Amino acid sequence: MFNKFIAAILPYFPKKFIWIFSRAYISGETIDDAMRVSKELNSKNIKVTLDVLGEFIKTLEEAEENKKEYLNLIDVSFKNHINGNFSVKPTSFGLLIDKEVCYTHIREIVAKAASLKSFIRIDMEDSPTTDDEIALFRRLKAEFPANVGLVLQAYLKRTYNDLEQMMDLNSPEIPVNYRLCKGIYVEHESIAYKKYEDINQHYLEDLEYIFKNKIYVGIATHDKPLIEGAYRLIKKYNVPKNMYEFQMLYGVTPKLRESVVNEGHNMRVYVPFGKQWFGYSTRRLKENPKMASHIIKAVFYKG
Ligand SMILES: Cc1cc2nc3c(=O)[nH]c(=O)nc-3n(C[C@H](O)[C@H](O)[C@H](O)COP(=O)(O)OP(=O)(O)OC[C@H]3O[C@@H](n4cnc5c(N)ncnc54)[C@H](O)[C@@H]3O)c2cc1C
Repeated sequence: MFNKFIAAILPYFPKKFIWIFSRAYISGETIDDAMRVSKELNSKNIKVTLDVLGEFIKTLEEAEENKKEYLNLIDVSFKNHINGNFSVKPTSFGLLIDKEVCYTHIREIVAKAASLKSFIRIDMEDSPTTDDEIALFRRLKAEFPANVGLVLQAYLKRTYNDLEQMMDLNSPEIPVNYRLCKGIYVEHESIAYKKYEDINQHYLEDLEYIFKNKIYVGIATHDKPLIEGAYRLIKKYNVPKNMYEFQMLYGVTPKLRESVVNEGHNMRVYVPFGKQWFGYSTRRLKENPKMASHIIKAVFYKG
């Protein structure tokens, strides 16, 4: 209740106030900020995935601009020798306006990444976009088998079935590459697990399927019990280091992140940046009021 209240009123707070908490989770407004943070993380043996903030656009001109920004970002990252890849949200490229335009833009980004032996991760958005984002992934994967991956959300009841349905994309030479996360959007209980225990149970079931079938996975979570569950499965299936990595969001649970790195596992951090940080922060709050408590913690409990 309190979280909901805070989430509802925070967007009306002054921008400066929102920045006080947002800066812990966002590397900054500019590419230079993203490069600085990426180099810092790389120096700690942590890879990055870079994300230009912005989603749910209103015009195709915005989609074109977003594509240009990503193409430039790939160039700049390459010149800066960043050890990382890139995450894209299809709605930022017009998925909800014109699917073909969206495909063409993301194809250009993946082609650019492929030319530099890099990789594009398609973030998964809310459930009305799931089928389209899977279709987009399938189409791109056919052309760029090693340079594109998808996100799966363990809270969706369909995910285990999606994993089975997409097995045709997996091969020992080029394993299919997923990021497995819990899912951040508010979904209806008819299609999504709601309870913490249920989500975690299905997360680990999905992960077990992934390991059994020799699929590559980014284990994206800050939840200690899930990380420990993942450790157990890695041991059980003797999963080699080149078949998985852990992933966390920039600024979230840095101590836990350090402990995973110290255990000798590969780690990648999701680094968002860009002028649209305000919209991103407040939209995330409205989507998931639970985050409000994290934000309050970030504002009031330092360290
Ligand atoms: C690399 C990465 C990429 C992601 N990509 C997507 C995506 O494409 N689509 C999608 O729907 N979701 C995505 N997510 C979000 C994800 O679905 C979860 O909502 C988010 O990671 C929180 O879930 P959790 O697994 O950390 O567990 P939770 O049970 O939510 O959290 C476990 C603990 O982690 C800490 N924590 C979690 N989040 C925060 C926070 N924001 N601030 C401070 N502490 C926090 C808290 O201590 C909490 O108790 C991504 C997450 C990561 C890490």
